[in-house]
Amino acid sequence: MGTTTGVRRVGGRVAPVRVLSRLLSRRVTSRVATAGLVLVLVVLTAFSVTAAVSNARATDKAQRSAAVAHWAEQAGRSLLAQEDAADTLVAEGGADAQAEYDEAAAATRTALQELGRAAGAAQAERVAGWLALHARYEVAVAGLLAVSTQAPAAAEEYEEDFVDPHYEAIEDVVQRAVEDQRTEAGAALADVARSQRLLLLATPAVFGAGLALLGVFLGVLTRSRLQVSAQAAENEHQALHDALTGLPNRTRLRQVGERALRAAAVDGPGRDRAVALLLIDLDRFKEINDTLGHAYGDVVLVAVAQRLSAVVPAGATTARLSGDEFALLLPACAGEDAALETAQRVHAALQRPVQVEGVLLSVEASVGVVVASPGQDDVGKLLQHADIAMYAAKERGSGVCLYGPEFDVHNAERLNLLGELRRAVEEGELVLHYQPKVSLSGEPVDAVEALVRWQHPQRGLLAPDVFIPLAERTALVHPLTRHVVDAALQQCARWRAAGRVVRVAVNVSARNLCDDSLAPDVAAMLRRWGVPASCLELEMTESAILADPARARSVLQDLADLGVTLAIDDFGAGYTSLGLVKDLPVHTLKIDRSFVSAMGADGADAFIVRSLVDLGHHLGLSIVAEGVEDRCTADLLVALGCDVAQGYLYSRPLPAAQLEAWLDTAGLDAQRPLVPATPSRPRRESLPSAP
Ligand code: C2E
Ligand code: CA
Ligand code: CA
Repeated sequence: MGTTTGVRRVGGRVAPVRVLSRLLSRRVTSRVATAGLVLVLVVLTAFSVTAAVSNARATDKAQRSAAVAHWAEQAGRSLLAQEDAADTLVAEGGADAQAEYDEAAAATRTALQELGRAAGAAQAERVAGWLALHARYEVAVAGLLAVSTQAPAAAEEYEEDFVDPHYEAIEDVVQRAVEDQRTEAGAALADVARSQRLLLLATPAVFGAGLALLGVFLGVLTRSRLQVSAQAAENEHQALHDALTGLPNRTRLRQVGERALRAAAVDGPGRDRAVALLLIDLDRFKEINDTLGHAYGDVVLVAVAQRLSAVVPAGATTARLSGDEFALLLPACAGEDAALETAQRVHAALQRPVQVEGVLLSVEASVGVVVASPGQDDVGKLLQHADIAMYAAKERGSGVCLYGPEFDVHNAERLNLLGELRRAVEEGELVLHYQPKVSLSGEPVDAVEALVRWQHPQRGLLAPDVFIPLAERTALVHPLTRHVVDAALQQCARWRAAGRVVRVAVNVSARNLCDDSLAPDVAAMLRRWGVPASCLELEMTESAILADPARARSVLQDLADLGVTLAIDDFGAGYTSLGLVKDLPVHTLKIDRSFVSAMGADGADAFIVRSLVDLGHHLGLSIVAEGVEDRCTADLLVALGCDVAQGYLYSRPLPAAQLEAWLDTAGLDAQRPLVPATPSRPRRESLPSAP
């Protein structure tokens, strides 16, 4: 999410928020903002505490000064009263005057003591001095009283010499104290007033600044929280959508499908609409991707996504499930006819070629359709059934196919067979037949191709076409291929022990070429049977290599490094990429039998075979023609310079013992076979057909 979703206003409180968020990463921003919030709160609290404390101190000081001033004034007044009482006592005498004088003296003393207490420990010495002065004054008054009774004539002089100076001394200090304390109390009050004024000004300023900062940090925090939630929303979108086309992905389709099935279940069986799923697989996409490159492939996928979105009915969900596989979920479809009609529209829309940089590319698609039956609640099942229907559409070339109950049987049978095949590999029900490869230059036959069959306990001998495609869709193809390589090498070792040097070829599948452990495993098997690597050839089709060219290249290189010979099988039948052959460590090209078997009758096929032979030779490869069924074809191949031939003309694939017999008889002069071949006989009539 860019800044466009944030607040647009610049200036005011927003600008610092932006600046901060831009300068720092999201996580750091939120940490800084939180720390800032805490800091502002701490500063505000510290300010409040300090202000309160200093105000309390100033008030306390002012109160103390006021108390001191009060007692100083009190002492001054008492002193005056004491002096009056002393005068009366001296003039009139008597107990009453004495009592009045004593009371006044005590009041002065008390005032001085209170003054000392109020002034605090620092003034203790000073106050002690005052008390001493006062005591001396009292002694002088007592002396005056005695003199005036015993020698009245000396009284006046005594008063002037002894009493008055002591009175003046104490009066003087008390007067000074009164003045001092007045000034001090005034200053303290001024302090209080100042501190209060300061507080009055500073409090709004500090709290204003604090609030502004709080606003900034809260703004930053809110913004970063918004960004985090926006990021979370984006992540969720990414997790549920395909990056290239922007369409919902498989996970999202499942979610939508589950919701639709739940809604259908809530509506109950009375509902006249059903959930339908269309699975769309492009027929020619791999070729485009492999030959023109991924950039072209991507453009095609985006175009397909757009076309699908344009033809789907309202409310439908279009999703990209994987590479070239799309799906359409119709949550409220009127029925099978309506679903089929949408499928036909989709099919027609993808029939039109896609134009990429001036090149018209034909993609075409096969569409599998399934309509959920009432009560069906499993999207996985729906997808699986749509997938089966889609494969049926591909196999039949019908474009669109609707899933029906009959598919369940077919599917169950296939699954069943796959389970049995797993056991068959482990229990050795797979047997190898060997078909000779005949040198067209007349040398003795020294190579065979191992072709696997399944000796099924109930169904008899099954052809590879029945079970290899099944195995190739699962990881079972790995143990299967290893089993065949191992058995072929064991046979090869037996022949070698019996004095026959025969090279043996084994077929490998696309998945095997994505398996990094294939080469080390083959090396181990070669060691196990003591067979030189040059006696083993591995055959693979171009499409098997093209499934994952980079991985295949590395696996093939590892195999070639072992000394194993590599052959491209069914050459010319697929989407031939000559660059591929040139760059791979391949030794042999096997021309597909579709060209070879018809070359006697079809000039174009003969021309293709000639071109392939020439091309292969130019690349330094040995050329094998497959499917040679008659003498005429063999002669033509000799004339074209083809190196090796394989086909019913020489021999069908045979069990090892029969092959040995063939090698000892017909194989000795195979180029002119002793037994004439029967070319047009259907080759697998005794074998059951694929389910
Ligand atoms: P492929 O590799 O092209 O094998 C040659 C097929 O052509 C064999 O069929 C063979 O019997 C048949 N053939 C040979 N000569 C002629 C002929 O003159 N005319 C005609 N019409 N056909 C001829 P098969 O044994 O049924 O094998 C079919 C395919 O099954 C093989 O085609 C190969 O792709 C696959 N396959 C066989 N064994 C294995 C295996 O061990 N592993 C793997 N991955 N695939 C295997
Ligand atoms: Ca082969
Ligand atoms: Ca072949």
